[in-house]
Amino acid sequence: MSSMDVHKRRTAAVAKGVSSVISSYVDTASGGTLTDVDGREWIDFASGIAVSSVGNAAPRVVAAVREQVERFTHTCFMVAPYESYVAVCEQLNALTPGTFDKRSALFNSGAEAVENAVKIARHFTGRPAIVVFDHAYHGRTNLTMAMTAKSMPYKHRFGPFAPEIYRAPLSYPLRDGLSGAEAAARAIDVIDKQVGGGNVAAVLIEPIQGEGGFIVPAPGFLPALAGWARDNGAVFIADEIQTGFCRTGAWFASEHEGIEPDLVTTAKGIAGGLPLAGVTGRAEVMDAVHSGGLGGTYGGNPIACAAALAAIETMRELDLAAAARAIEARMLPRLRELPVAQARGRGAMLAVELVGPASLELEPDPARTAAVSRACHDAGLLTLTCGTYGNVLRFLPPLVSPPEVIDRGLDVIEAAFASVG
Ligand SMILES: *Cc1c(COP(=O)(O)O)cnc(C)c1O
Repeated sequence: MSSMDVHKRRTAAVAKGVSSVISSYVDTASGGTLTDVDGREWIDFASGIAVSSVGNAAPRVVAAVREQVERFTHTCFMVAPYESYVAVCEQLNALTPGTFDKRSALFNSGAEAVENAVKIARHFTGRPAIVVFDHAYHGRTNLTMAMTAKSMPYKHRFGPFAPEIYRAPLSYPLRDGLSGAEAAARAIDVIDKQVGGGNVAAVLIEPIQGEGGFIVPAPGFLPALAGWARDNGAVFIADEIQTGFCRTGAWFASEHEGIEPDLVTTAKGIAGGLPLAGVTGRAEVMDAVHSGGLGGTYGGNPIACAAALAAIETMRELDLAAAARAIEARMLPRLRELPVAQARGRGAMLAVELVGPASLELEPDPARTAAVSRACHDAGLLTLTCGTYGNVLRFLPPLVSPPEVIDRGLDVIEAAFASVG
C-alpha cells in the first residue's frame, strides 16, 4: 500500500479541516528518523510538534507501555486510582521550578491543561480576567481559542469566543527593539489601564512562544511580569507545553529566566508520544479547588502515566537537557549563516525568521518560508513553519537525534535556501 493509495482513502474518509504537513504516510519511526510506507526515510526535525523528545518508540517507553497494557488499560483515576498517576504527579512537583510545596493534576491534552489552569486560577482568586499575549498559542478548544492570538486557521468562523480574555503586547526583540524591562512596562501599562490589577485571575504566557514564532522574549520581561502578578495577587502561569521536558536545554524554559511560576502547564514532550498533560503548582492554589472540581474520564490514563515515567527516566538517564544544548551548539551557528532576519531559540527549539528584500525592512516573507520548507520536504527533511505571519521555519529534532542526523538535516536546509534563492 503506497502513500498515494492511503491519501486517496483519506480524502474520502477524513474531514478536510484536519490537515497534514506532508502527504507521505508513516510506517515506522525511531530516534531521529521516520520511514514512510513507500520505504522512504525522513529526517525528523518536527518530533510530532515537540512531542517525541525521547525519540519515537523509545525502548523504555515501549517496555513500560507493554507491561502496563497487559496489567490494566483503564479504571479512571476518579473511580479506582492507581500508583503511577501519583508517581507522575510526584515527578512533576519535583521537576518544575520552585522548591515550594506543590500539587499536580493530570489531563489528556495541552488545551485541557490550559483550561484547567484557568479554572484553578479563577477559583483561587475569585476573579474573572485572564491576561494572554500577542502571538500566543494555547490550543483549539473554545476557551483556548479565545486565548490563542492567530485567527487563520485556529479561530476563523469558530466564534463566539469565551469572555474575559485580555491580550497584552509581547516582547519581540527582532521587531520591537525594546529591552525586557521596557517591553514589560508596555505590557503592564495595558494590563493596569485596560483590565485593572484587581480583576486579574492569571497572567498566562509561554516562556518561549511556540506556534506564534519561537519568539524568545528579551531578558527581564518574564521576571517583571511574574513580579507584577505577585504584587497584584494574580496567579502567574507558565504554559510550558511546548518548552517543557528538556526541549530548551533545561527541564523547563522558566529556568533560563530564573522564574518560579505559580502554576505550570505541561503536555507534548511529557510521555514519549502518549496523550498526557498536567497542571502543577503551589499547593495552596491547586488545593483551593473543592474535591471533585477537577478531573476527566481519561486524564492520567495508566498507559500514558507508565509512558511518562519511562520518558522522564530516559531524560534523566541520557541527560537530554544537555543533549538539547548540544543540538543548539551544533545547529545555531549554521542557522545564523542563512539568509534570514534572525536565527533564534534555545536548546532543540530553534527557528529562523524570513523577511523580504532589504528595501522592505523586516516585511515577513511567508512565500519564501513555504518554498524553503517544501524544498526541505522534497529532500526528505521534515520541517514545520510557524509564526503569526507564517514566516518562521522551526526545528524541533528529537533530543536523542545522533549528531550525524542533525548535520544531514542542516545540509538539507542550506541546500533548500540555496535552491529557493
Ligand atoms: C501545543 C500547545 C498547546 C495545546 O496542546 P494540545 O495538546 O494540542 O491541546 C498549548 N500551549 C502550547 C504552548 C502549545 O505548544
